[in-house]
Amino acid sequence: MKEKVFSGVQPSGIPTIGNYIGAMKGFIDLQDSYDAIYSIVNQHAITVPQDPKILKQMTRQLAALYLAIGIDTKKAILFVQSDVPAHAQMAWIIQCMTGLGELERMTQFKDKARKQEAVNAGLLAYPTLMVGDIVLYDANFVPVGDDQKQHLELTRNFVDRFNSRYNDDLLVKPEPLIPEEGGRIMSLQDPTSKMSKSDTNTKSFVSMLDTPKQITKKIKSAVTDSIGEVNYDKENQPAVANLLQIYASFSGKSIDSIVSDYSGQGYGNFKGDLADLVVSTLEPIQERYESLLTSSDLDDILQDGAKRASAIAESTLSRVEKTIGLTY
Ligand code: ATP
Ligand code: MG
Repeated sequence: MKEKVFSGVQPSGIPTIGNYIGAMKGFIDLQDSYDAIYSIVNQHAITVPQDPKILKQMTRQLAALYLAIGIDTKKAILFVQSDVPAHAQMAWIIQCMTGLGELERMTQFKDKARKQEAVNAGLLAYPTLMVGDIVLYDANFVPVGDDQKQHLELTRNFVDRFNSRYNDDLLVKPEPLIPEEGGRIMSLQDPTSKMSKSDTNTKSFVSMLDTPKQITKKIKSAVTDSIGEVNYDKENQPAVANLLQIYASFSGKSIDSIVSDYSGQGYGNFKGDLADLVVSTLEPIQERYESLLTSSDLDDILQDGAKRASAIAESTLSRVEKTIGLTY
């Protein structure tokens, strides 16, 4: 039997090149060697306020984008989280076995709570929903960006606790798959904070659906430093190091070779070439996206994905419910 991979992206905005580099790009290769299950995790997205119309629209857009980057539903399952009720059911069980202190320590909770006027209980419980997403599919590997490392650690601890309390073989303990370079792409306006699709400052990210003009403008106006030389020095030139990581990921070249290509030059050519590279990489993805978005095939694909995901998730949930006594 093939090992399993699970990952999800929230429809909390159009994915950025950070989401693509850190997570989504890796989904494509993984679907060839693993049983891959990918989700549009809309229940995670409502942990912060969402406009219903926009949420619905972004759910569809994200589905089309998954397909446009190369997710093949002959190889992988693609589904919308709220179509599979087992996720919310499993999350409740996990919440009842997770300490409040554990959740309060999560840095994503602290970061996101700071940005909200009012914090709801779901934002705190978010990681338990994610633990459920992963364990329902017996996932061995979870391709994610660096910011999800702590939630993966929580998942692994939960699995240990659960298995040692009930039965050693009940849940599979997952490993995160985090890219060595590009696991944490930073904001184009502030190299100390991560690029996020939900950022209210749209200049901080390049979205996968930005026009060539927008991409070029955003990259050219990305903050740099006063050193004026392209070096890979995360400590002293973090903004340039971030642009180098984006360049390396989109070109497939090593960071060293890019640095040597621009030695002795300022940032102008480097930024111009990077903008062209991002534009030409996203162009074919955007073309495929446009034709998928309006196609009725998309609805069929998501319905079929929900059916296939439900069958797996319900069987795990029932195994768990029987074990803990939610039966009679
Ligand atoms: P939000 O701000 O709504 O949380 P996000 O940009 O963080 O949006 P998510 O849907 O939370 O996106 O995450 C989707 C995937 O992208 C996850 O695997 C996450 O770790 C990864 N990811 C998010 N931001 C980055 C980033 N800046 N660099 C690399 N990977 C990232
Ligand atoms: Mg996030």
